[in-house]
Amino acid sequence: MIIPKEKLLSAEQLHEVTAIVEEFGCRIQEIVGAHRNIYAILGDERHELMFNRLIGLPYVARVDHIESSYRLLDKDSELANQRLVLAGVPLGEEPLFIAGPCTVDPNNPELTLETAFAVKEAGAQMLRGGVWKPRTMPYSYQGNHTALDILLEAREATGLPLVVEVMDEEQLKIALAAKVDVLQIGTRNALNYSLLKAVGRLSAPTDSWVLLKRGRHMAGADEFLAAAEYLAVEGNPRILLCPRGTTPKLEGYRNHPDESITPLLKERTWAPVVCDPSHSTGRAAYVPAATLAAIAYGADGLAIEANVDPRKGIGDDPKQALDPDTLRSTIVRSRALWDLMRH
Ligand code: PEP
Ligand code: MN
Repeated sequence: MIIPKEKLLSAEQLHEVTAIVEEFGCRIQEIVGAHRNIYAILGDERHELMFNRLIGLPYVARVDHIESSYRLLDKDSELANQRLVLAGVPLGEEPLFIAGPCTVDPNNPELTLETAFAVKEAGAQMLRGGVWKPRTMPYSYQGNHTALDILLEAREATGLPLVVEVMDEEQLKIALAAKVDVLQIGTRNALNYSLLKAVGRLSAPTDSWVLLKRGRHMAGADEFLAAAEYLAVEGNPRILLCPRGTTPKLEGYRNHPDESITPLLKERTWAPVVCDPSHSTGRAAYVPAATLAAIAYGADGLAIEANVDPRKGIGDDPKQALDPDTLRSTIVRSRALWDLMRH
């Protein structure tokens, strides 16, 4: 939809915009308005270059998108009809709880193994754990692939499917070879299009899902969905969208909590939303309420950092992981709120 700066386009200007849209297989329909004429673009109007060329014309005030630029993630896409079941949970019908340590300590396998049993007992259906870690400082612990073996043992022992972050193609290949159930793309790589393409392409022929975190610099809903579109275009539509807080942070929190973006996402896409209240708030004391808020906002699931002994964790756990009892009561309350909202 082209909105001209003046009341209407001159014959010459109309000729120029028509020539541009025709290059992209579209045509122009002039709509006469009381104060200003507008020019609808008929056809597939999602070509970015066509938009760029129209926006660049000096007599054009604005060009609005009517159709979304994320074709596969859009609510109107065919993919909206898939029934999504992960870890035995029919998404949208029951809440999904993912829990586990921030970082798996390769020198303390017992801590992760005990935590795996504890989160299962507390009601989680999936186990999360960081093998390779994106750390702000190069001096912090960066992760180690040997930690993956501990998670594989935990999966074997508990039956809980795994969520593991990958940051590059080498890690991706190791994770896929280990049949990691959900590949996490962290907030720092949320807009790393080469990685998104590689994850989409290489996971397409497997059963692995992808949990895509929201870009931390306040990535808007459309940017978030466009990033997810990369995964789907490459062949993997098994996607979970994960709001995890943004920066600048809200004073007192680790980030600016963003569970509230859930209804906006759900209005635009069929993809399930799994919120991460641990990173959004950054403090264990705030996680239970943020979890309930996410459920109230309509999230399909939660990814929560938890540890049998948060003080012994080597990543974010000492500040933000829930102990098993708090995790259990949070899950019980979340399920009650889920039911309350649907009956
Ligand atoms: C994590 O899940 O531990 C993590 C590092 O996530 P994020 O990318 O949201 O910071
Ligand atoms: Mn963490």
